[in-house]
Amino acid sequence: MKLSVWTYEGPPHVGAIRVATGMEKVHLVLHAPQGDTYADLLFTMIERRNHRPPVTYTTFQARDLGSDTASLFKSACHDAYNRFKPDLLLVGASCTAELIQDDPGGLAEALDLPIPVVALELPSYQRKENFGADETFFQIVKKLTTPQPRTENISCNLIGPTALGFRHRDDVEELEKVIQNLGIEVNVVAPMGSEPSDIVNLGAAHFNVLMYPETGESACRYLEKSLEQPFTKTVPIGVGALSDFIAEIETITGLTNLQNKVASRLPWYSASVDSTYLTGKRVFIFGDGSHVISAARIAKDEIGFEVVGLGCFNREMARPVRAFGKTLGCEALITEDYLEVEGAISELAPELILGTQMERHIGKRLGIPCAVISAPVHVQDFPARYSPQMGPEGANVIFDTWVHPLVMGLEEHLLTMFREDFEFSDANGPSHHAAHQPTSVQKENRSEEPVPKENSSNVIWMTDAEKELRKIPFFVRGKAKRNTERYAVDHGVIEISIDTLYEAKAHYAR
Ligand code: SF4
Repeated sequence: MKLSVWTYEGPPHVGAIRVATGMEKVHLVLHAPQGDTYADLLFTMIERRNHRPPVTYTTFQARDLGSDTASLFKSACHDAYNRFKPDLLLVGASCTAELIQDDPGGLAEALDLPIPVVALELPSYQRKENFGADETFFQIVKKLTTPQPRTENISCNLIGPTALGFRHRDDVEELEKVIQNLGIEVNVVAPMGSEPSDIVNLGAAHFNVLMYPETGESACRYLEKSLEQPFTKTVPIGVGALSDFIAEIETITGLTNLQNKVASRLPWYSASVDSTYLTGKRVFIFGDGSHVISAARIAKDEIGFEVVGLGCFNREMARPVRAFGKTLGCEALITEDYLEVEGAISELAPELILGTQMERHIGKRLGIPCAVISAPVHVQDFPARYSPQMGPEGANVIFDTWVHPLVMGLEEHLLTMFREDFEFSDANGPSHHAAHQPTSVQKENRSEEPVPKENSSNVIWMTDAEKELRKIPFFVRGKAKRNTERYAVDHGVIEISIDTLYEAKAHYAR
């Protein structure tokens, strides 16, 4: 047992639903208790789809457990087939149904339906949503693909986008533009937007673009082995990654001079003088492995932030995230426990968090600005406007999104100069964030006790040192305070004076 309040991923059958919902002419029969239909809301509300996911739930109840739940499952398959007439049927079990061991795969085979049936093994107690999506798509590909003659022109498949994917809709559109600009045809986009006949046709492409390793890697590996289709390894999020991605395509296809066919506004925006104040801003990054690696690279190489911590919640990506963390001098945090993430963030006291919906909440609680870079996300991250993360436009979107929550350069300067000002007082945060404006009550409290006098280690701040500490801009003050206290404890100092503050500063600057 593990006490969980927030989970970064759903159970694996939600991953299966994401694949089925992204596709056409596919139906999923899920052996599941009454109430599991809540998953529909993810698609009809958060992603705002205008139709129900193509899922039939057996919705068994307590009273069914005494009778024959297996026949309930069989009749659900029959009904689903007769009503929806899909070209492919997926069958699987949710967590509770896994315990009653009705074997949906075997039961569906016995029905002898005139369409292919894919039985899904979804180990709900060991694996999670991303695994469910990856495994479901892999099983579909394994069942349906056959060797095909390659298309006359060079072509590729875009692999990995699903329903409920963070910006998948626009990433596909953006990447299709990029690929076409390179003079390459897009054969099939899958699973999202494809139907079973398209999957049969995957083999006609010359290579695969693996857009999201979390949901498409097993299928790409299978296609590489069985149909000799190479696949790209770099996720094209960010300018540097996009360039590496294009270099990979040059190697795979033998085409040359592709680099100059794609350009983003990010490099100039980030080189322009107004971005100078972004240099060295301390950032913490958390999310799914692929988005975290991409974000860390952009943060460090393309915007000039200092990455002070990073990590991911999906263990499948632990190895590459750890390896990338090492190159930045950070020990990666691999955890599904948001309390551990919160602990790491408050310890590191970054100036910006790049994370998921959970980190937005953490940021709010700790008063640290945050931008969302990865699922899980709420409804506002399925926006009406075009907002990819991949390709040149994706880099533009990322630049704007990440810089927006930060205090603007001029404002930062004013906050430091006029820290007693009623409007620009330094704890007010960015002026464009109404939520950060404190009430007058909070203001009063703050002026009485802006810096806690004591901390857990019982080190005491002298009044003048405390005053000096308040001169430090608020977004780095937490870090300065913690460092000074640690320095004091390490050196047996009980009362922190101005001297201790500066000694600690010099110590940590070394
Ligand atoms: S079967 Fe799984 S997903 Fe459904 S309600 Fe039970 S624990 Fe939740």
